[in-house]
Amino acid sequence: MKAKILYLRPSESDWYNQNSLSFPSQICAMSRVPSARSEVKVLSQIPFRINRESLCQTLRLKPGSHYLAELDHLIDQAEQVAKPKAMVRRVLIAEKGENWVRLDGRRLVSRILRVNLEEATHAFVFVATAGLELATWSTTLPDLLHRFWADVIQEVALETARQAMHQYLTQRFHCGPLSEMHPGSLDDWPLSAQEDLFSLLGDVKGKIGVSLTESKLMYPVKSVSGVVFPTQTQFISCQLCPREKCRARQAPFDAKLFQERYGIPIQSSFGLTKP
Ligand code: SF4
Repeated sequence: MKAKILYLRPSESDWYNQNSLSFPSQICAMSRVPSARSEVKVLSQIPFRINRESLCQTLRLKPGSHYLAELDHLIDQAEQVAKPKAMVRRVLIAEKGENWVRLDGRRLVSRILRVNLEEATHAFVFVATAGLELATWSTTLPDLLHRFWADVIQEVALETARQAMHQYLTQRFHCGPLSEMHPGSLDDWPLSAQEDLFSLLGDVKGKIGVSLTESKLMYPVKSVSGVVFPTQTQFISCQLCPREKCRARQAPFDAKLFQERYGIPIQSSFGLTKP
């Protein structure tokens, strides 16, 4: 799921451009966790630098604002503390049904995921996080405004971890264009599926500090779990989400897709919810 993330940032492509990352040596040197199944990668040495101009735009702080010195100070602290991380594993798509897929022994029920994996023989399960370090730091801030800024900084850190994972997958597997799905983003694939993803990855808490609460939410909150898959047909959950006035929307809602791409009757589709 996208774990209640408020994407208070420019569009994803803008962010990629403004924060273009180049750290293959660190990524490739990251630890390899032995597994009886396939290799699990832990990305724990991800460089984190904030694009201050982009963050000011996101926070709607104008040049010359008297808040800038405070924000600068907060960013300095965050950059010292932050350890965004990700954990990812390549899994075989062992079987496909009408509305489910079996990933390495785990049966995931979702018609949309099933259709999205039509062309794929393998997929990648992952958890990415802004990290416990930033989450803990943010709770020490007494000022409410600073806590809000710290929230946004954690979202940037989470996005940094996601990008690092994508960069790793692209370099390691040369898999072409990738899309993602997150449990809980759409009703078709509920939050409870996070348990399957955590199980496929192994010791997520021990390796990157992310745990599941009883209600299947992740802690730290600024974390995301999901499946990454190679596809020529880009998928973004927002295409199937009718929510209005969402500042984080990354693609227009397209009601026709339910029937045309996924064979789901349109009238049964509007229970779909946000991450
Ligand atoms: S439009 Fe829907 S799926 Fe997209 S970010 Fe907003 S709530 Fe999430």
